[in-house]
Amino acid sequence: MLAKIVIGGIIQGVGFRPFVYRLATANKLAGFVRNRGDAAAEIVVQGKEQDIDQFLSEVKEKKPVLARYDGFVVEKTNKEERFNGFSILASNESHEFSGSVIPPDISICDRCIEELQMPQNRRNRYPFNTCTECGPRFTITEALPYDRVNTTMSEFDLCRDCSAEYCNPLDRRFHAETISCGACGPQLSITDSKGTTIDSADPLGLAAKLLEEGSIIAVKGIGGFHVAASALNSKAIARLREKKNRKNKPFAVMAKNVESARKFAIVDSVEEKLLLSSARPIVLLKKRDDCFLSPLISPQLHNIGVMLPYTAMHILLLDKLPSPALVMTSANPSSMPMVKDNDEAFRQMDFVDYFLVHNRQIAVRCDDSVVRVNCGKANVVRRSRGYVPTPIYLKSQSSCILALGAELNNTFSVLVNNKAFMSQHIGDVESVETYQFLKDAVRHMAGMVNARPDTIACDLHPTMHTTRLAHAMAGSDLRLVQVQHHHAHAASLMAEHGVDEMIGIVCDGAGYGLDGKVWGGEVLCCNKQGFKRAGHLAEQPMVGGDLATCYPLRMVAGILYGKVDGLDEYLHSKSGHFPGGSSEVQFVLQNLSKSAMMTTSTGRILDAASALLGACYERTYEGEPAMKLESLAVGGNDLRIKPRIDKGVLDTTFLLQYVYENRGRHLPRDLAYSVHSYIARGLAEIACSQSRSTGIKVIGFSGGVAYNELVTRLLKQQVELSGLQFLQHESVPAGDAGISLGQVYVASMHDNFDEDL
Ligand SMILES: [Zn+2]
Ligand SMILES: [Zn+2]
Ligand SMILES: [Zn+2]
Repeated sequence: MLAKIVIGGIIQGVGFRPFVYRLATANKLAGFVRNRGDAAAEIVVQGKEQDIDQFLSEVKEKKPVLARYDGFVVEKTNKEERFNGFSILASNESHEFSGSVIPPDISICDRCIEELQMPQNRRNRYPFNTCTECGPRFTITEALPYDRVNTTMSEFDLCRDCSAEYCNPLDRRFHAETISCGACGPQLSITDSKGTTIDSADPLGLAAKLLEEGSIIAVKGIGGFHVAASALNSKAIARLREKKNRKNKPFAVMAKNVESARKFAIVDSVEEKLLLSSARPIVLLKKRDDCFLSPLISPQLHNIGVMLPYTAMHILLLDKLPSPALVMTSANPSSMPMVKDNDEAFRQMDFVDYFLVHNRQIAVRCDDSVVRVNCGKANVVRRSRGYVPTPIYLKSQSSCILALGAELNNTFSVLVNNKAFMSQHIGDVESVETYQFLKDAVRHMAGMVNARPDTIACDLHPTMHTTRLAHAMAGSDLRLVQVQHHHAHAASLMAEHGVDEMIGIVCDGAGYGLDGKVWGGEVLCCNKQGFKRAGHLAEQPMVGGDLATCYPLRMVAGILYGKVDGLDEYLHSKSGHFPGGSSEVQFVLQNLSKSAMMTTSTGRILDAASALLGACYERTYEGEPAMKLESLAVGGNDLRIKPRIDKGVLDTTFLLQYVYENRGRHLPRDLAYSVHSYIARGLAEIACSQSRSTGIKVIGFSGGVAYNELVTRLLKQQVELSGLQFLQHESVPAGDAGISLGQVYVASMHDNFDEDL
């Protein structure tokens, strides 16, 4: 009997063919296995029917750890073919299926780490050690099928020993496409600030020594370049901040291991699991009170981003350091993509003292992922290395859709059948470089999953780069669906949890509203047909437009104008926090009666409170004033200010008036806590009353403010007290990085969509 089997999903780059080879030969079957150009695998086996059945059940049950099957087609015939035993054949190019893909980059496995530490092993201390179960995949793969020739390992010819292992069915690197060793694989080198190689037998040892002495070193990893500095050396970090013009934006650190991280941060069991997971993301941890790392790493914040080493090179580098952690940041401006090529690094990163580089190309750039545990659940803030290109599974099938996301923290998504392939972090699509990266990444991802979209989705904002690109790509042939920003946030949560109706509380900085105004504190009733705006924060003026985002005292001025005593004196006393000093204050005061751009943004209210309480007067990075307000609220008491709601609108003027008038009477941390509580309880009340009138029993929280643990906790409490179900994000970012998934979801429902709902 002969059986042909085609399996899709995540099959290539996971050791699937050697796994099949072993099972087939153990079951005395002849035939072959091979990879295909559509990322599926094809197996033909010939033998006794009972052996074939045994083989099939073992393939299903014992599958390799990283494999995922989506589709398992078996065709049995009585035809006989001639085979010379069982073999792994060269891949073929067939492209019949869509939606299969290679795995993400996987952190080094325990067995490979053991080899690093065994003096007699030929891969002892080898910085690029990998096997069939670990190592880079997404970032080295240029095209499919996943064969060495289609990866950036192709330029390294196997030495005799590696060849022998590659061909030996009993070896754990049998058919491992990334196989290499010190004799034949990529090589590390260290250069000066100009890119001139420094002669050294031990580049890692030298780099460690230089870091300890206070040097700043650019380190080439698997998805791009990091900038490294000692986490104990404030002088080095201050120099890095000055050279990169990054005043306060927090840097991530790489700790040697969990024990090292525990010396300066609190690690609970969920966080520990995340730190050690094969994705090895940056996990936002609470700093210990006696945190001894440089205070310049995450100034004025109660948390710190920590990751563990995920390649042999990182392990070996950290092993050589006496300090428990290194600052490791991508350090590119948010409008620029991460640097990935050596020449590009030498040109652009002229602020570092040395470069630790290697000679393997990075095919696809991929930043580190970021996760924050929020109310006991892991929420991915940035879904990139270690997660991408694993798809998010939607509840129902749809035609092929490409959604281009929003403008800041951009990701895009490609929907094939019910699988949404969310891209790696693209960044802020406002520079030529990031825009180009977006276009390249779209082409690469569509090619990888063999997608031919018939629909393009984008934001409603008319002048976003992504909106314009969507129009250009759609042309006259493809369907174009524009999705309101906050509807997309809510829809991303519905897609993630597979719910068809939900009352969405969506809080963020800004998004283009249906009325052309700036929305950002919304209660939306959503179902498969669309959404209705059921409530929101009060509209407030943005004095000076975008300047009010950078300098939150302008928000304070606009909101409290005519409402409190002594506003003029107050603002003059803070003139040092206006770039133009007292003359700017004077100008602001004179213009307060004029009309300004209006917003219902939650971010702007948190910013204004942050300035009123002295936590932050200038936003130097996204979310800074609100993040500092959350840090200020740690340990605070709730003053239980009663939310004022009128026809679904939560009064935020009253809230800020309260803070202004009581700032001498209560502790700043109590007021900070109460601001969060007022907004959370107010929005929960609006949402719960909508639940009563619509019968929708699910309330979800999305938008960038949903990373705020305090707001999330208070909302959840209130919603659950009302006997309703509360949904929060887990594997999909709550912020704009998750927008593309929501766009995909809305576009997939759009066939029976009433535009005017
Ligand atoms: Zn391994
Ligand atoms: Zn070798
Ligand atoms: Zn948003």
